[in-house]
Formats: sequence, C-alpha cells, structure tokens
Amino acid sequence: VRQDGAAYAKKSDKPLYLNPEVPIEQRVKDLLQRMTLEEKVGQMTQIDVTRLMGTNEWDRGPLNPEWMKKIFEENHVGSILSGGGAAPVPNNPEEWAKLTNDIQKYAMEHSRLHIPIIYGVDAVHGHNNVLGATIFPHNIGLANAWDPELVEKLSASTAKSVRATGIHWNFAPVADIGRDIRWGRFYETFGEDPYLASKLSAAAVKGLQGKKLSDQESVAATGKHFVGYSQPLNGQDRSPADLSLRTLREIFYPSFQAQIESGVKTIMINSGSINGIPVHASKYLLTDVLRKEMGFKGVVVSDWEDMMKLHTVHKVAPSYKDAIRMSINAGVDMSMVPHDADNFTKNLIELVKEGKISIKRINQAVSRILTLKFELGLFENPYVDPKKAAEIINDSDRQLALQAARETMTLLKNEGNVLPLKKDVKSILVTGPSADNVANQMGGWTIGWQGATNPNELPPAVTILEGIKGAVSNNTAVKYVPGVPDEKDEKDPSKVKAAIDEAVKAALQSDVVIAVVGEKPYAEGEGNTETAELPAAQRQLIQALNETGKDVILVLVAGRPLMITDLVESTPAVLMAYLPGTEGGKAVADVLFGDYNPSGKLASTWPKSIGQVPIFYNHKPGTKYEPLFPFGYGLSYTTYEYKNLQVTNIISKKGEAKVSVDVTNTGKVAGDEIVQLYVNQEYRSVLTPVKQLAGFKRIHLNPEETKTVTFNLPASQLAIIPGDIIGTERPVVESGTYKVMVGNLTKTFKIE
Ligand code: BGC
Repeated sequence: VRQDGAAYAKKSDKPLYLNPEVPIEQRVKDLLQRMTLEEKVGQMTQIDVTRLMGTNEWDRGPLNPEWMKKIFEENHVGSILSGGGAAPVPNNPEEWAKLTNDIQKYAMEHSRLHIPIIYGVDAVHGHNNVLGATIFPHNIGLANAWDPELVEKLSASTAKSVRATGIHWNFAPVADIGRDIRWGRFYETFGEDPYLASKLSAAAVKGLQGKKLSDQESVAATGKHFVGYSQPLNGQDRSPADLSLRTLREIFYPSFQAQIESGVKTIMINSGSINGIPVHASKYLLTDVLRKEMGFKGVVVSDWEDMMKLHTVHKVAPSYKDAIRMSINAGVDMSMVPHDADNFTKNLIELVKEGKISIKRINQAVSRILTLKFELGLFENPYVDPKKAAEIINDSDRQLALQAARETMTLLKNEGNVLPLKKDVKSILVTGPSADNVANQMGGWTIGWQGATNPNELPPAVTILEGIKGAVSNNTAVKYVPGVPDEKDEKDPSKVKAAIDEAVKAALQSDVVIAVVGEKPYAEGEGNTETAELPAAQRQLIQALNETGKDVILVLVAGRPLMITDLVESTPAVLMAYLPGTEGGKAVADVLFGDYNPSGKLASTWPKSIGQVPIFYNHKPGTKYEPLFPFGYGLSYTTYEYKNLQVTNIISKKGEAKVSVDVTNTGKVAGDEIVQLYVNQEYRSVLTPVKQLAGFKRIHLNPEETKTVTFNLPASQLAIIPGDIIGTERPVVESGTYKVMVGNLTKTFKIE
C-alpha cells in the first residue's frame, strides 16, 4: 500500500528514504538532510576500480583493504567505474559480478547511511569488457544500417548483460557527430548526419534504459560527449575546437536533444575546449544550454580527470582547487577520476566552507545522483547473482549480432557483378591481415581499451576466413595466406616482398581472390591519423594481387573510410565491413556468397583524399562535394525503382507535409532498401545545407514487389537558425519553396 511519506515516518523507525513505497523525490530529500558535507561530496566522486585493486596504480589484482578504507571510509566515495575496460582477473562474468558485489558490500557496510555505489562502464558494443560476451558492430557500421529498432534491441541486450554483472551505468551511447575521419573516435559515432545520429542514439538510450531502470535488465545511459567533441580543429582527440554557435546548434546539439527527449539519465562532458573555453568550465554550455534550453534534468559527469585538466592542460585554472570550483559551478555534478580522491573531496569541502561553491549547488548535484540511485533500485537490490551473470552473458545474443553485422555490410563496388560468388567455385584464396583476426574485427573498446591485444583474451568470434569456409561447398578448396609479414616485420622490405610473393603465387592458382585488409584496433589518442592510409604492406599486397589479372574482392575492416581511391579503381569489388564484431565473419561471407543481399548505405562521406577532410554531404552552398562515395551510397544485388513522388502542396508554419513514394524491387532477388528523404530550402535568410536528411525508412521488398513509403514532414523540422553571424537565436520556420528529394525524384512544396 502506498503511504504518504510523512505519515510513514511518524509510524516507523525506519528512515523514510529506505522505504521503496515513498516517492523518490521525498526519499532524496529525506536522505539529503541526514548527510554531512563530507558524505555529500563523496557522492560527487567517481573512482576508477584500479585504484581499489592490487598494489600499483593500474594493477588488476585483488581488492586492497587499505585503499578500500581510504576510498569508502575516509572519502565516502559514491561511484566506481571500470575505465577503459579495467577488469578483474580473470575477467569472466562471474568474477565481474563477484567483484562488483564485494565492492558494493564494503561500500554499503561502511556508509553510515547505507548508500549504495553506482558502478559505470563503457559497454559501447555489447558488454565489451567481459570475456565471453557477444560483441556487436561498432556504431559507425550500425549507422550504415539505418535501423533504429535494431539499435534499440542491441542496446537492450547490452544493458541486460551489463546489469547482470552488477554494473548500473553505461557510458554510452555516443551522440558525437562524425565529420572528421582523422579523429581516432570516429568509429564510435553514428556518422555525419545529425538527423540519423539523433534517431539512432535516441534509440540506443531507449534500449539501454528499458521501461524501468529498476527492473534489473536496464542501465542508466550516458549521452556523450557534450558537446562538439568530435570536430577538433586539427582532427586530434581533445585538441581545441573552433565551432560557431550556429554550427553547434545545427549539427552538434540535435543528437543530444534527441537523447534528452528519450529520457537519457546522464550526460558526459567533452574533454576539449570550444571557441577558447574548456567545456568543463563552460557555464553557458552546461547550464544555459544543457539545462535551461535543452531541458536536461539528470546527472552531468565529467570525463576522465577533466576537472584537473582545467589546471594542468587548458590552464584556465591557476590551481586544482580553482579548477574544481569552475567546473562544479559551471554545472558538473560528478567528477570522474578526480585523480586523487583525497585531494578532490578536501578541496571541494573547503570551497563550500569558503562560500565559493554554494551548498545549494552541492545539494542539487547530490540530489540528482541520489535520484538516479533510487531510480535504479540500488537501495533495494544492491547485489547480483554471479551464476546468473555467467548464464546471461554466455547466452548473449549471437543471432542479433548476426543480423546487425549483416545490416552494416556496405557494398561499395561490384563491377561486372563479380559478386555474389558461386559457392561451388573450385578454389579460393583468402589473404590479408584481417581475414583471420579477431582483434581487428572487433576494433577498440574490446576487452582492452585499445582493443583485444592479448591473444589469450579474445571475445567469441567467427572470423572472415571461418565464415568463408562455412559458406562454400564441400568441393571448394579455401587456402589462406597472410599476405603481409608479422607486425614486427611490417617495414622490412624483404619480409614484405616474401609475404606478397607467397600470396601472388597462391592467387595465380585460385579461381577467386578475397583480400581482407584494414586497420588494427585503436581507441582515443592512438586512433588519431593524419593520413587515414591503408598500411603500405597491405597496399602493396592489393596492387600485386590486382596485377595477377584475377578478380580481387576487397573486404575492408576498419573504423573509418581509408584513402584507397586508386585501389578502388583497380579492384572490381569492394565491401566495407567496418568493425562487425562477433558474427562479422559470417556476415561478410553471407554477402560474398549471396546469402544476404547487402543493404548498408554510407552514414559518412568517403573522401577521395585526406585533403578533402572535413567533408560532409550537408554542406552549405558554394562547397565542392566530390567524394569517392557520397553519404547515403551503397549497392545491392537487386535494383529499385522510385516512382510517383507526392507531397502536400502547401502547409502552414505549424503544419506537416505528407510525402509518399512508390518503391519497386525491379531485380531478381529480395532485398532491403533504405528510402531516404532529403529537403532543401530554395531561398532563405541564412545559408542552409544544399540538402538535409529529413526522413528515412528501411523496407524489405521481394522481386517485383512495390511498397508505398510515406513520411510526415513537420514544418518545425525545417526550422533554421536566423540572425546575422552569431547564431544564438532560436530556430524559426521560414515561408517559401522547399524541395523534397527521394531517390532520383524531386518535387517542391510551399510553407506559408
Ligand atoms: C573517454 C570516455 C569514457 C571514459 C571512461 C574517457 O577517456 O573519453 O568516453 O567514457 O574514458 O572510460
């Protein structure tokens, strides 16, 4: 029976905040008024789990009693994370669950008010830090699937695995817009388009958070990294960005806004600076924009050590204490890895006592954090069952992983229809360093931060070689040679030559040559590139294979478009697999042998050369857009015809245009088509994109089947940001003529 909080408090000795029947708002208030300042600042502190384990800073050994005491008893720390995948040893599901249970137990038993910790992790493509978990494709590939429902399902599956290990908070999904392939985190984005990224990252929030956070299958999601993180001026992670307010509004706010509207519980802040201000110190962005304008109500968490960096890197704070003051006052509620817990809590307490941070601001931050803990049901259900964790993770969704990997596959070239291959071809050569390489297929943020670098700790996977072997007939001989030397010999010309010679010899004896090349795994920092080149040995391998006169099928396993314009010209077939995860090898084989008709469409422009970067389709008029492959591009084994485009003639500024089009599969095989609706405003008071995605639908069509696809296009979606230069004004809808574009068809309508 639901009781009124005050009545309950009178009747019972049990404090109000421990009663799950009481509304969360009252529980938070009740708990807050019982807390000391020391306990409050502890809640605002998040410590990396390696600071609790072993005897050295990055040790993953057993929990260290001395450090546990320091963190929980002396500093009252309220949150732990496994940054960069920091894991227990061994890092299987059961050990993870035991570790989080042990930490939780210690924290609660040593907390005067029995406040549970909230534990966070980066599970950005499945529960990617835990051995045995199924790994899903990285976001950049998923973006090519244009399938929000799929993203929601994958995220729900991830949430279930994560929560099973006693982790309540996922630092995902990324809402950054991928406009610069030089940036090492490009593959973590849902591509370059704000509309598509909004739909996909909002779907991810829904999947992660589920219907109810307390249901033990959901986790709190994090929109990150607010805001403008993905386009630093020189493409290098965490280096300064110069982005006009107009660009921020048009390109970088919408995906965060969409996540907020989907109820995202937490937001993580961009480590870099924008227009001369580190975002961690920007009251304008963190309070005026994020809170007041965008309506975010949840927890704002800093990124790794970023309060400290206001002092040590950005140099806007003369001391660490000043840095803390600036950041908390700007609007950060929790400090992720404040370097040293003592120093952070001590400084923060002093700042409050000195009146430099108001107690009101502390209460506000702590209330948000406690609200989340109550919503997650942590006071009632702090522990998990390690056996069940193992069951859930060992059983994590392979079928879904396969569907996802298939949908991400993007066919870029298929001259003379060399694909699909016949399954009974006599002999196939498979070559290239990513053909039989689990780590490359997974990319970064897999087991380790920079990828699965330890060959003894690999996630479950079907490699591409295995996928191909599984697809062909019993009479087909599949030969594999690496084609490039071991990594340590990559730059040794004689070793490179020997490896290529071996591949060429094998190619000459084979009917079909499949070369699988690309990038090694990487994450932040190490992933930055000035060239986006395919490594030289791999490039030479493709050239040599092409010279044999055999049809070479080029499969790319990489986190971004690579600069391979000449190789694409000389190779008949090119398939972009991105970082397809556990079932990637099967999905590649399914496409190569026609068991799956490729449907992926590029969610990011593929430049001809690195000098074109940054390049994106929704540029302003007057820009040259001559990429190798444009946004929205991707081939299929069938053909689609678009006919009968219709749009409402005239709508009001508050109205909605109805758009419809008939799409027919005119080829011989079934397939999924991604119908894309673009809009352009003919004349306007400020420059707007030459075309802007305004709707999309993924449909399945059997041969000769026709479907009518409809879109509702509200005028409000066409609002522009008016004003001379600055771009601070609120969006308005302008009257005039608008052009809609679907397939090769166009039509105009008016807004009055
Ligand atoms: C990254 C974040 C991540 C955090 C915790 C940081 O270095 O920028 O995206 O969530 O580490 O691992």
